[in-house]
Amino acid sequence: MSETAKSKSNGLESIATVGDYIAASGRNPRLRRNTHHYISDMLDHFGPDVVFEGIFGLEDQIKNVVLFFHAHGTSLERRLLLFVGPQGAGKSYMVDKIKKHLDLYSHTEVGALWGVIGCPFHQHPFDLIPHTQRDQIKEKMGIRWFPEAIPCPVCEQKIRKHGSWDAVPVERIHISTTGKCGLAKHTPTDLRREDITNFLGNINFSKLKKIGSTYDPESFDFEGKIIWANRGLLDWTEIFKSRRQLLGLLLELIQSKRIDMANFPTVHVDEIVLGHTNFPEYQVFVNEEIMEPLRGRIFKIEFPYGLDVDNEKHIYRKFIERTDHLTGQTKHVSEDTLSFVSTYAVKTRRETKGMNGLSPRFFQDVMSVAYTQAEECIDIETVSTAILKMFDHKSHKDLNVDKMKEIFEKTKEEFFHERVETFINRIIPTNKQFTDYGQKFYRNYLDAVARNVRGDKLSPTEEGLIQEVEDLLVAKEKISPKGKAAFESVLVERYEELEKMPYDKNEQLGVVINEVVFNHVKNFLRLSNKTKRIDEQSREVQKILRDCLIKDYGYCKHCSQVLFKVLGEHI
Ligand SMILES: [Zn+2]
Ligand SMILES: [Zn+2]
Repeated sequence: MSETAKSKSNGLESIATVGDYIAASGRNPRLRRNTHHYISDMLDHFGPDVVFEGIFGLEDQIKNVVLFFHAHGTSLERRLLLFVGPQGAGKSYMVDKIKKHLDLYSHTEVGALWGVIGCPFHQHPFDLIPHTQRDQIKEKMGIRWFPEAIPCPVCEQKIRKHGSWDAVPVERIHISTTGKCGLAKHTPTDLRREDITNFLGNINFSKLKKIGSTYDPESFDFEGKIIWANRGLLDWTEIFKSRRQLLGLLLELIQSKRIDMANFPTVHVDEIVLGHTNFPEYQVFVNEEIMEPLRGRIFKIEFPYGLDVDNEKHIYRKFIERTDHLTGQTKHVSEDTLSFVSTYAVKTRRETKGMNGLSPRFFQDVMSVAYTQAEECIDIETVSTAILKMFDHKSHKDLNVDKMKEIFEKTKEEFFHERVETFINRIIPTNKQFTDYGQKFYRNYLDAVARNVRGDKLSPTEEGLIQEVEDLLVAKEKISPKGKAAFESVLVERYEELEKMPYDKNEQLGVVINEVVFNHVKNFLRLSNKTKRIDEQSREVQKILRDCLIKDYGYCKHCSQVLFKVLGEHI
């Protein structure tokens, strides 16, 4: 069914006056929603996954926002929704998502809203019901409405003009920032210019001349953020930077759903105020005695920077997937690279428990630069370069850049150290290819020894092999320098038995061969840093390591090559 057809069947298209609206609301409970309820329904209509699409790592915050709105009809309707967190933690992004979807929702059938035509507050039609008739209408229609709700001065005029409150015309309204309907944003940039008139409008002096009375709504411009935001959301950034006088206004707005206008009776408003602030400013506010009444009327959601490495990884992975999708490319990133960036991000924040450090925005830009500069892979070198580059491209207030760089160097050291440890303790002892490699080496050694004891002429490779093993045996004091010949003859005597044995079961040789294998890995890594041409032994080691990184650690050929190179610098 098309939207118009649906409207018709609900009789919504015939709503032309407050009276019509009240009649229609008897059939359609959606028309009885207040703003809190309306936003809650908007979130349910699209679903939080859609509304907050593209926001990663803020699952708890999203849950709490949804909870806040789901609590319509409770005390939370009279609370300031406050986002507290450092710059770039995703607060504004989240508010923008809510605003955008409120706009979209108001264009849907189920999100249809009506307001009094010509009312600067686009007041809800229920606001015009006289208090003397409320009980009667409530009984008849089951309508529950704000006891504070009254017509604004402009609506009062309309009631007089139309002869009756229920004859006042209404129209469908759409939530829109540019239309100054249901959305407004305030940022206290210049406190000297931040005036109550920004919120509540002002006398229009040219009209005043004609009209003569400041008490006539005709001589007043009802233009201001609180007025525009009625029926929706007032987005107030850096809220505690605002003048204290305005916070008094805010208190009245959220606790009584009313505002005092200088020359007019108190006006009723129904809007959600969503404030943002950072921790230091919040702390100052909390300690101010005069703020006591407001303090008790806050529903606070904290937005610290992420402190969970896995969560960070998830954010960056999602970011790359999204960029892939948007740019139509596919760039590779290994788990390890993501771990590295995430570990660094978390380390810069840990000391302050997420109140300071490098922001998600910083890392989003790091990943953007790395993505752009990467040919096929966002490898460990590309991200490292991007991180350092980003320090030059950002201005950092309240941030010790030298310290951040120091943490970076440390994270890098630790990361490389850990990777080498992984090779030694995890990959080399358990990887089948490496045990085969060790076994082959062990046998070659035994063969070389046998030939040596027989008195055959040895190749330089065989001589090197014997020396490599026996120097280590001496260093580990398993044999004495003079005992080499005796040791070799014992090996030859037991050749048949030893040759069949897994090398690591050999009491004397097992440890030594493991170390030989590790030394080969080290040699290979050192070489990878210096040259592209490597010897056959190193090529074999390279192949084993690479296969393992690809199979078990999400690397590709290119990324493993980069890792070998950087590890070579650190080994
Ligand atoms: Zn009005
Ligand atoms: Zn790769």
